Amino acid sequence: MSNIRFDAMERAFTRTGVNVQLPSDKISDYFATNVFTVDTMRRYLSKEAYKSMIASIESGAKIDRSIADQIASAMKSWAMSKGAISYCHWFQPLTGATAEKHDTFFTPIDNSKGIERFSGDALVQQEPDGSSFPSGGLRVTFEARGYTAWDPSSPAFIMQVGSGKTLCIPTIFISYTGESLDYKAPLLKSQHFLETAALPVCHYFNKNVKKIYPTLGWEQEYFLVDAALFHARPDLQATGRTLLGGGAAKGQQLDDHYFGSIPERVYAYMLDFETEALKLGITISTRHNEVAPGQYECAPVFTDVNVAVDQNQLLMDIMDRVARRHSLRVLFHEKPYEGVNGSGKHNNWSLATDTGVNLLSPGKTPRTNMQFLTFFINVIKAVNEHADLLRAAIASAGNDHRLGANEAPPAIISVFIGSTLTEVLNELSNKVKKGAKVDELIKDELKLNIHKKIPDVLMDNTDRNRTSPFAFTGNKFEVRAVGSSANCAATMTVLNTIVAQQLVHFKAEVETLKKGGETKDGALLRVLRRYVEDSKRILFEGDNYSDTWAKEAKKRGLSNVKTTPPALGFMVTKSAKELLVGNNIFSERELDARYEVLLENYEMKIGIESQILAEMVQNQVIPATVTYQNQLITSIKGALDIGIKKASLKGQIDLVKQIAEHLEGLHQGLAAMEAAHKKAHAKKSSKAKAIAYCDLIKPCFDTIRHHADELEYLVDDQLWPLPKYRELMFVR
Ligand code: ADP
Ligand code: MG
Repeated sequence: MSNIRFDAMERAFTRTGVNVQLPSDKISDYFATNVFTVDTMRRYLSKEAYKSMIASIESGAKIDRSIADQIASAMKSWAMSKGAISYCHWFQPLTGATAEKHDTFFTPIDNSKGIERFSGDALVQQEPDGSSFPSGGLRVTFEARGYTAWDPSSPAFIMQVGSGKTLCIPTIFISYTGESLDYKAPLLKSQHFLETAALPVCHYFNKNVKKIYPTLGWEQEYFLVDAALFHARPDLQATGRTLLGGGAAKGQQLDDHYFGSIPERVYAYMLDFETEALKLGITISTRHNEVAPGQYECAPVFTDVNVAVDQNQLLMDIMDRVARRHSLRVLFHEKPYEGVNGSGKHNNWSLATDTGVNLLSPGKTPRTNMQFLTFFINVIKAVNEHADLLRAAIASAGNDHRLGANEAPPAIISVFIGSTLTEVLNELSNKVKKGAKVDELIKDELKLNIHKKIPDVLMDNTDRNRTSPFAFTGNKFEVRAVGSSANCAATMTVLNTIVAQQLVHFKAEVETLKKGGETKDGALLRVLRRYVEDSKRILFEGDNYSDTWAKEAKKRGLSNVKTTPPALGFMVTKSAKELLVGNNIFSERELDARYEVLLENYEMKIGIESQILAEMVQNQVIPATVTYQNQLITSIKGALDIGIKKASLKGQIDLVKQIAEHLEGLHQGLAAMEAAHKKAHAKKSSKAKAIAYCDLIKPCFDTIRHHADELEYLVDDQLWPLPKYRELMFVR
């Protein structure tokens, strides 16, 4: 009998790798050739247009419509020289994926001829008719007039799909009434807020700095699975994760031989997507991740937050498409397999100046050390004040499986800084006592001690704590709790904003002390010292996975919210609104709408999982089990017929009983899930619905899975229709 699982295995295990042709021996020959870079602009634009473009990239200056015409025309010439025949506005709606709407350059003049055209208007603004994108009610369908607007600060690029090439314009996506419907608009606002807030603080130390910008270097984890096996698993196809299987309950370990060197087929895939990425200016470097079988990681060199976010979204898209060329599927889900490690996306974040200084890099002189300490302590204080908002930013149905699962940081947000900096902060805290003569301290002891210790910080990296959700790693902070499928913009928007707000407060407090007669250094130290005192509860150097930490964190008043619906609630608290609405990152309507969208998104994800799980159990698990059960029953009857004693058939009879119990367990589990659905549907608000999906429907998955996984173990392997873990994870 044909079985989809064995057909898939046959195909998966007889594949040969794709031969990847590199464009040249030297990466520099093709690096960023598909990007409308500053260099390309210089070649294609008039002096006037070039200057206007640079001003817009650097300071967000508005581009004149007539100049936009020139830029559009230059982009078109460049794109056509590369073989592109169409263009699209590329944007990042709240679905989580990227979206694009294509138009050709070709414009007919009459029936017999036409020309290639790309106007400034078409570059600057488009209406993608996005009525099907989530909007949380901001854009009622009958006036579905969302539009996309060009973001000149992220470079245009050429996307190649098969032999088709398209000029892609990075854009933000907003409703007809001006509300943001995407991840990029708030990110850009937060970036601007941070830039303006950090500059005056930086001027305490260096007046020459003209611009500060946040930087991001992400690390993307992912799993690979053979396409045929992927298609034999309805759960992977529809939800990106396995809802059944694994045998983790039976202690089935995956052996070391799954690790080792990168299989040739996977290596070819990496080479292929890296080449595409490099052409798009993404400086990717790949390495094998040894944590789970079939799991890998890649990371680029960091760049400014806005471009880094675009590059990550673009890369996920490329990785998905290139995987298909290799008969593979890439899984970005946070937890594709139960019982083995999930995937995250570390977000390394720092602040850079136009003078080439990393503000979170410990300095060599007392002056630069004060600058370092100022930004370092302000970030810690910001996280202390708004840890809950960071928790909300990383919340998703997928990430719920990781946070607190003893493989990823827990749902408790805390900051790790290492032992050297802990000492430095303690020293600051102890010496700058109320009423102490700060100026004297600055002149001698404190300054010297800090100065002596800070160079050790980089060495302190070696013992850095991998369990912390927010860690200082030598010259940057690393947010480790972000999910692998997430758009980094959500977390970056919050981080930029909380740090910006903090720096605004800091500046105001320092100025007040100065007005009261304190010297600048004295004022800086005094305020920083208080921040250290205020932020003690957020600092944690121990094992974040331990139960003792959960207890300790509770005492400290830190939240430990394990699931998405309540975590999302942190987005719309009074303090969140004061921060986000007060600083124009969101309007109140936008924030409320976003909350709605994310709740609905959660409900939808759990809903799909539930439906697929029920289908797999009904259509695949139960029929295979019943077939096997009948075989056993026939065999027992036959044995009795020929006179074998019942006592001698105990094992077989027990097996039938066990199978019957688990079958019954499945039926009851499905019925319970059905009942939970009824209860959830009766809820009125999105919030109540999402909570019901989380607390009533999702727990049914575990019961059902338990019985199905037991049956996977009991039923004849030849009859089992779903590829098993050892098959899925073994890519060769
Ligand atoms: P890890 O041990 O965590 O893999 P790496 O040193 O390889 O650490 O760096 C990880 C990421 O940190 C890379 O993506 C890199 O680009 C990024 N990174 C390094 N410096 C900065 C910085 N100043 N700002 C933002 N990201 C940075
Ligand atoms: Mg890292």
